[in-house]
Amino acid sequence: MFRFRNTPWIILMLLALPAITACGPKGGEIVTEKPIPEVCSWVGTGTAAPVEDLDKRLAAYVPTELSPSIEHLDTAQVQVMEKLIEASKLMDEIFRIQATPYYDALAGRIRELFPEQQKELARYFAINVGPWDRRFHHEPFCGGWEHPKGANYYPLDLTESEKAFITDSSNGLDGLYTMVRRDKSGSLEAVPYSVFFADRLTKAAALLKEAASLTGNESLRNFLVARADAFLTDDYYESDMLWMDLDSTVEVTIGPYETYEDGLFGYKAAFESFVTVTDPVESARLANFKDELPWLESRLPIADEHKNLNRGSESPIRVVDEVYSAGDTRAGVQTIAFNLPNDERVREAKGSKKVLLRNVMQAKFDQILTPIAEVLVAEDQLADLTAESFFLHTLWHEMSHGLGPGKILKNGRQTEVRLELKDTYSTLEEAKADAMGEWDIFMLARDGRDYFPADIFRQQSATYLAGLFRSVRFGIGEAHGQANAIQFNYLMEKGAISCSEQTGRFSIDVEVFEQAIGQLVAEILIIQAEGDYEASVAFINRFGGMTPVLARGLEKLEGIPVDIQPVFSRYES
Ligand SMILES: [Zn+2]
Repeated sequence: MFRFRNTPWIILMLLALPAITACGPKGGEIVTEKPIPEVCSWVGTGTAAPVEDLDKRLAAYVPTELSPSIEHLDTAQVQVMEKLIEASKLMDEIFRIQATPYYDALAGRIRELFPEQQKELARYFAINVGPWDRRFHHEPFCGGWEHPKGANYYPLDLTESEKAFITDSSNGLDGLYTMVRRDKSGSLEAVPYSVFFADRLTKAAALLKEAASLTGNESLRNFLVARADAFLTDDYYESDMLWMDLDSTVEVTIGPYETYEDGLFGYKAAFESFVTVTDPVESARLANFKDELPWLESRLPIADEHKNLNRGSESPIRVVDEVYSAGDTRAGVQTIAFNLPNDERVREAKGSKKVLLRNVMQAKFDQILTPIAEVLVAEDQLADLTAESFFLHTLWHEMSHGLGPGKILKNGRQTEVRLELKDTYSTLEEAKADAMGEWDIFMLARDGRDYFPADIFRQQSATYLAGLFRSVRFGIGEAHGQANAIQFNYLMEKGAISCSEQTGRFSIDVEVFEQAIGQLVAEILIIQAEGDYEASVAFINRFGGMTPVLARGLEKLEGIPVDIQPVFSRYES
């Protein structure tokens, strides 16, 4: 749409209306009357001063240049990459609309209210993609607006009965690729992304097609053409299938994927993009692991009837360097790896692809994990910390998303774990992936596979322990952070982790850990296999909180950055 700077916020709101009003217009329809007082009154309610520790919160994100070397690319590959980065910037714009109602108006309001802290607030607003702190339960860091749990996917004024209505899948309001808005009569309607974001998706589709015409790589060309069509039709199936087949030096993952941002129901997919260059040597080494997945599925600690032995066995692994990222993935804490697509039909046919972002992982190991361990891990276990174990943990976390129940049968009805566990799905699935990742490695090592060094049990345990603190610092209001609190509290209760009263440092008992992590995997798997929402809520309530011992540990980490803030100076001024 349009970008204006130094424009009074009331005008910004008028400009923003076509895409964001809660009163029913689709896409480009312009409404200039009724909604304006509503907009003004909501945005205008934000007057609260910025949090006092804003400087500290900003310092938690250490700006880190990520642009990797691209000297090995030829001219055409560089041109393809530039088109993909242009399209990615549109994903940023779309995600802002999805995440935050009246994004520009809120930014303008904050500028106006606190001119002397303008620069700091603008940086933190950009990191969080809105005025709510992603590390602290989405509490406002400025202005005082209450965070809408459903982000901007739903009208702000949803009633309880409307919420119940949305969860009734027969009316289609729970669609993955729709925004929910009110029609002219005030009733809820699902507006497809291709309509709601028509301007930007049309431009993005054109850029993907231009990139397709420039590339000499057939797998990339096929994907880009199909994904361009998907932007205009909301049918992502074919392009998700083709994304699985990508085999190109320059690759891209672009479109609506994860549902974490929809904290109300977990139904809606957020737009994002990763532009990457591949590392074929490392990918080939890791591809051996994929052959182990059917064996691991068959060994899962759950009854055979719940095992998902028909999932596709093709699970490619990519190790890449990130050249650019945008949208959902760029907000708050940075992804070091991902596992896509989420479409169960594709996963059953082809498995899922794991992409590890090597330059992002290296930056986090050096700048965050190592300093954390030096403060919190028992001194006699510090030497066991390795970058390789950090890498393996991340890798097997991603592999584990592709194991266990996906499509399930509940009361004779075909459904998916994701749909049944609703807002608890992400937290539980992330806890599963972490715990099962360690379980996988231990299973393979116990069975005598020679993938790992002799000290793998000690190294994996110590590095995992340090990693828990790194992840809980993300904030337990977010799926990954809370998933780590669950693991920490569970393992404390089982005696796998203990804290020295003298030193305040934490130790992990390798043998107890191996037992307990298997029990944790088993408890999560049965909740997923049965699609038991109440059990999921109860489990998260029991283990997902900030316990005093955990809080004391985290207090000691003051001054150590929580995360990197990616800088891509080659593509952003
Ligand atoms: Zn994950």
